[in-house]
Amino acid sequence: MKTIGMIAAMEVEMQSLRSYIENPVKEVISGITFVSGSLQGNQVVTAVCGVGKVFAALCAQTMILHFNPDMIINTGVAGALCAALPIGSIAVSSAVVQHDMDTSPLGDPVGLISGINKVYIPADNGLSGELSACAKVLGIKTETGVIASGDQFVSSPARKEEIARTFNAIACEMEGAAIGQVCYVNRVPFCVLRAISDTAEGASEIDFPKFVKEAAAQTVTLLLTFLRH
Ligand code: SAH
Repeated sequence: MKTIGMIAAMEVEMQSLRSYIENPVKEVISGITFVSGSLQGNQVVTAVCGVGKVFAALCAQTMILHFNPDMIINTGVAGALCAALPIGSIAVSSAVVQHDMDTSPLGDPVGLISGINKVYIPADNGLSGELSACAKVLGIKTETGVIASGDQFVSSPARKEEIARTFNAIACEMEGAAIGQVCYVNRVPFCVLRAISDTAEGASEIDFPKFVKEAAAQTVTLLLTFLRH
């Protein structure tokens, strides 16, 4: 049976999904609690990695080495970078990018990850397609596109516009592209699934705490539907 890995940054994004796991087994590695078991007939391993790219990478690599997942889904909330994604809607990654990776003074394109020589890390096509199909079945507004990650909570129109324009990105968050990079070098298929908690503009510091819970609930509903099929 395939093992599906699922990583969220914060408890609020994972807690209720975990309550559906049958015969959960807990294991703490490098400070991260991994909970594995059976979920809707699938073997799953879940983790709450913490906020930001370093924790996200640490978690993804540890999950790969200890649990050997066949795929990893990074779930959670994000800020919207386009008008087509209102609060509560869903962004699915076609690719991920690290918007704060910048060696452009040396002539590289902004976002280039030296070593693998890529700006965009492609998500698994099949997985993205299935997740967005599930959202459509549930009647949740969904866009598929580039999701941009960086160690920054984006909350100004200028920075929002800059990230959206530079990378043609639809949503911003702080972990997806780190998990994507780890999955890429380990050849593990991945996808980022995010519900919109804020619009990454002036009001996002007010909207985020207000909507984070209900946005997170959208991804849980969607993942349960995905896992049933
Ligand atoms: N100290 C806070 C930090 C939350 S940071 C806490 O621990 O609760 C915001 C989280 O939500 C990150 O994990 C990020 O992936 C996501 N996120 C939501 N809106 C975002 C935005 N506008 N910019 C960047 N990340 C955002």
